[in-house]
Amino acid sequence: MRQSEMLVPTLREAPAEADAAGHRWLLRSGMIRQLAAGIYSYLPLGRRILLNVERIVREEMDRAGCQEVLLPIMQPAELWEESGRYTQYGPELMRLKDRHAREFALGPTHEEVVTALARDEVNSYRKLPFTLYQIGTKFRDERRPRFGLLRGREFIMKDAYSFASDWEELDRTYQAMNTAYSRILERCGLEYIRVEADAGTIGGQGETHEFMALADVGEDTIVTCKHCGYAANLEKAGYETSGSSVNNSGQAEVSAVPTTADKADGNAEGDTLVRIQTPGVRTINELSAFVGEDAQNMIKTLLYQADGQLVAALVRGDHEVNDIALKQVLGAEELILADETALAGHPKLTVGFLGPIGLDLPIVVDADVAVMEHAITGANEVDVHYSNVRPGKDFALDNVGRIRFAAEGDGCPTCGESLVFTKGIEVGHIFKLGTKYSDAMGASFLDRNGRQCAPVMGCYGIGVSRLMAAIAEQYAGEEGIRWPATVAPYHVHLIPMSWKDEQQRELTLQLEQQLIDAGYSVLVDDRDERPGVKFKDSELIGLPVQVVIGRGAAEGQVEFGSHVLAAQGESKRISMTAQEA
Ligand code: ATP
Ligand code: MG
Ligand code: MG
Ligand code: MG
Repeated sequence: MRQSEMLVPTLREAPAEADAAGHRWLLRSGMIRQLAAGIYSYLPLGRRILLNVERIVREEMDRAGCQEVLLPIMQPAELWEESGRYTQYGPELMRLKDRHAREFALGPTHEEVVTALARDEVNSYRKLPFTLYQIGTKFRDERRPRFGLLRGREFIMKDAYSFASDWEELDRTYQAMNTAYSRILERCGLEYIRVEADAGTIGGQGETHEFMALADVGEDTIVTCKHCGYAANLEKAGYETSGSSVNNSGQAEVSAVPTTADKADGNAEGDTLVRIQTPGVRTINELSAFVGEDAQNMIKTLLYQADGQLVAALVRGDHEVNDIALKQVLGAEELILADETALAGHPKLTVGFLGPIGLDLPIVVDADVAVMEHAITGANEVDVHYSNVRPGKDFALDNVGRIRFAAEGDGCPTCGESLVFTKGIEVGHIFKLGTKYSDAMGASFLDRNGRQCAPVMGCYGIGVSRLMAAIAEQYAGEEGIRWPATVAPYHVHLIPMSWKDEQQRELTLQLEQQLIDAGYSVLVDDRDERPGVKFKDSELIGLPVQVVIGRGAAEGQVEFGSHVLAAQGESKRISMTAQEA
């Protein structure tokens, strides 16, 4: 491919909307563009990455014996009424009416559609088990779309649905999907952990696991035990109870109010500790957008419950944070910059922000004065110090310095050793649904003995566009994303210093042909640009291998660079002859 003919609008600066490292690089390297909040266009390079991820997912689904289908995005509201989710799903479900005023939903997931299909087409145990999957666009009107492709309102998902005649059969499919998911994530080059999840909110009847890609921007907290291998999400591990602010879809919820149960668990002496989770909020504008009227009300409720008043908000950040606006948002009389001197005059501090505003925004009501220093250095860099606080009582920190509920040194539910808390991105989720949907929607089959039974279902989702974003997050470097070869838009970047130079051009074309013949995909920077511009763009694009064709072309000499080799400790640039290359 000739770069001069390709739409690769690289940017020298990241647009203001970019709120995570991977997202910034995806925008800067001209791979994606935002059309509306949480809605993105994939430009040619980005599309190629997405297609590579899709290919990996498809290959592993096929290997696991699943059958590909394509189900409608537009779904009649009646189907959703049958399952009881038309009202239950809430505002995340995008609804629309056709010209006859019939109601429809834009599919956020496809249990209803697929169960209706099975109800109509499958009536005997002879047809079971089977698993259908599709790769397609999903719509969820997320309350807070963020981090680019990580939480979109229109996004690409692979969703699969299995139908079995009994739980044992379901278990075999579940294990096969588990293996397939692990293979997918490994092939994508992701560092991940599989955790036990909580089925409660989805209403499944059996076990469920989430696959979490490790990343600081992750909105999920993973609870692990190094000793025995226990791994669960926060809810499953028993944290984030009713005072928690995270709803089942990981969004910040501002209606949470602490209960006596929370007081009892987290804070023996009756202090109330409540967290509003606002990952990624870095500027006061973002903060005000989040802390709307309902949050203010919540803060008031808390204060009322705590029988206190908002004397001051304890804030320290870089001065990107506009103190006056923050004061208005909180309705605090005073804002105190958090250093010991400033706090000396305010021993009766009742509300404080603890932790980097960029990640979590806990509010401590009526706690001891917690002196906090932090620097808002961006969503990925956490730099927090605390003094005068009582860890384990006021709060505890996870291993990246963020605050969580509960006491420090909590023991593993399995072996009692200390738990570790890490941030993760939920990239995949597998559930044993049981007969929830088949019962609700009346799907049934005749078993071996002629008895009518409900098929036992499983569902398995993997965020294809979220995977791309998770890779971007894990492979974000100093100059761009260093794409793993399995998903990179091209394998090799050929960079002739001067396309006008006949020898360079010829050597480039010759190399291109040889590489294509050997089965590699190649991007040729044939633009009439200065070398500096070409290098910068090449780093932004981040292909696994760069070959620079310069003055040495006459002697067949090229320069060879590879972040893949560099990561393995080999030198970044080596000279070699075109033949060797
Ligand atoms: P989250 O907790 O992040 O909101 P979820 O639990 O609501 O995700 P599922 O219903 O389990 O999501 O959907 C299956 C998969 O689809 C998720 O594991 C995730 O990879 C992906 N996914 C869900 N919501 C989004 C989104 N808004 N943008 C991109 N991918 C998403
Ligand atoms: Mg989730
Ligand atoms: Mg969700
Ligand atoms: Mg999920």
